[in-house]
Amino acid sequence: MVKIFLDLKWFFKQEQKAYGLGIGLLVFVAMLQLIPPRVIGVIVDLIQNDILNLRILFKWLGILAAAAIGMYALRYYWRIMIFGSAVKLTRQMRNRLYSHFTRMSQAFYQRRRIGDLMAHATNDLQAIQQTAGAGVLTLVDSLTTGGTVIIAMAFISWKLTLICLIPMPIMAYLTSYYGSLLHKSFHKAQEAFSDLNDKTQESINGIKVIKTFGQEQEDIESFKKQSEDVVKKNMTVARIDALFDPTISIIVGISFFLSIAYGSKYVLAGDLTIGELVSFSTYLGLLIWPMLAFGWLFNIVERGRASYDRVMVLLDEKVDITEKETAIHAKAEGAIQFNVMEFTYPNEDSPVLKNIHFTLLPGQTLGVVGKTGSGKTTLLKLLIREFDGYTGEIIFGGHNIEEYTLEGLRRSIGYVPQDHFLFSATVADNIAFADPEVSYSDIMEAAKSAYIHKDILQFTDGYETVVGERGVSLSGGQKQRISIARALIMHPEILVLDDSLSAVDAKTEEIILKNLKENREGKTTIITAHRLSAIQHANLILVLDEGEMIQQGTHEELMQKDGWYQTMYLQQQLEELVEHGG
Ligand code: ADP
Repeated sequence: MVKIFLDLKWFFKQEQKAYGLGIGLLVFVAMLQLIPPRVIGVIVDLIQNDILNLRILFKWLGILAAAAIGMYALRYYWRIMIFGSAVKLTRQMRNRLYSHFTRMSQAFYQRRRIGDLMAHATNDLQAIQQTAGAGVLTLVDSLTTGGTVIIAMAFISWKLTLICLIPMPIMAYLTSYYGSLLHKSFHKAQEAFSDLNDKTQESINGIKVIKTFGQEQEDIESFKKQSEDVVKKNMTVARIDALFDPTISIIVGISFFLSIAYGSKYVLAGDLTIGELVSFSTYLGLLIWPMLAFGWLFNIVERGRASYDRVMVLLDEKVDITEKETAIHAKAEGAIQFNVMEFTYPNEDSPVLKNIHFTLLPGQTLGVVGKTGSGKTTLLKLLIREFDGYTGEIIFGGHNIEEYTLEGLRRSIGYVPQDHFLFSATVADNIAFADPEVSYSDIMEAAKSAYIHKDILQFTDGYETVVGERGVSLSGGQKQRISIARALIMHPEILVLDDSLSAVDAKTEEIILKNLKENREGKTTIITAHRLSAIQHANLILVLDEGEMIQQGTHEELMQKDGWYQTMYLQQQLEELVEHGG
């Protein structure tokens, strides 16, 4: 249990002023709490000895009132100090997690699911905050209130105090046993919540597919099942949780029993006044809270421990795409020499790229074609350093791409991925994403090059039209062209179009390619495509098959040779003829 507080030492140190003050006030409250029971005892004895008058009564009542007001004010301030600081812990951890998420590579997101990551950033941080707030409170309070009350009881009668404390070790044992049970079950409950989060996120994302396949009922059933699993696991937590209070009540009950039984005996023997026994019993009543707090402490801290461990496992995952300390921060530019002997995806067995060698000079266009799954996208991912870990080297502007900072490298590359993504923002903001400072005329220029300007003007609010989440209100071709405009706005040294013209018709494709040629003179373009017309004018065309280059050359050269390219080109021409009724 102590470990979580040690783990959070960095935070307590950082907030030591607030925690110091908060804990100081808590201790003070614990001492003020001792006053009322003693005052009651004194008054009882005064009554019993028949010496109570109004003046004395008011004096004691005044003391009672002062103690009550003091406790009221101090309790307010320690709450602000301790709970207020705990909120800061969540903020810091959340920011740490978020910046970690943004630094992680694709491989990480392949391993982890979004719902799970969200659960870490919400439920788990909540549990950690509880530890830094209520956890600290219950720890300090159970020790100080408990300690001072026991001392005050010992002052009245140390023998009776010892007798009443006999059941305490049993309680300590039981609460620590429940604590370990709780740890395990809470961990499982959080994992189930992660899974449920994931399921919900995936279902909402895939709602169109679910509906078109008429799978709503099945989806609801599977949601129910997972939701029930969460309930079941949380019930287990609640069941263990529920053991704490009754156990503590029984133990305190036994203590009360002992105090009355032995206390009365001492009063009869003249060792204790009635007033002292009343004070003693009231003190014993004050012990209930610290005991409960002690039970809660186990509960809160075990949850915090489980959650902290979960978050730390995430934060400890190494960023696998790293920068060298001496990395070049300048924008990369120049020729590309791509020499990759072999690349295998993490956790896979067989290589997806083998012996890919080519050189591309500034201003040239490279076309990459081949069957689905032949490795076209993978080749691009290595170039933009989405994955490392290949044998060979990729040189860009005379330096290995690993020599650049990630920002330096990526600022040079305008990547339009296959699975384009638009933010829930205006069309203009989506296009200006990489550089929010650009002028409206630049935005329009990019849109015109991507042949989407006219479409945008047709939208209800033109460039200010808000694109729905994931751009649902636009057609696939429109989304593709906005993504192209987004890449063009950076005037990248290399423009990478990963099958980015698949959803536009052949005529639009031709216009876009013509615009690119005119507007991007001297800059490099890499295009992967299924429709060979998209890469026909490239300076170099690579044909990939199962990760290997089976053909390379210009369109004219490749058309001279029997092979995949020629066959495919003729076939696609025939298809087009048929389409146009030829
Ligand atoms: P293409 O772009 O030509 O369709 P890809 O480069 O996407 O081909 O894929 C090449 C091969 O690598 C395929 O067999 C695919 O299943 C596999 N692959 C692609 N991405 C990953 C990944 N992130 N992890 C593991 N295997 C992958």
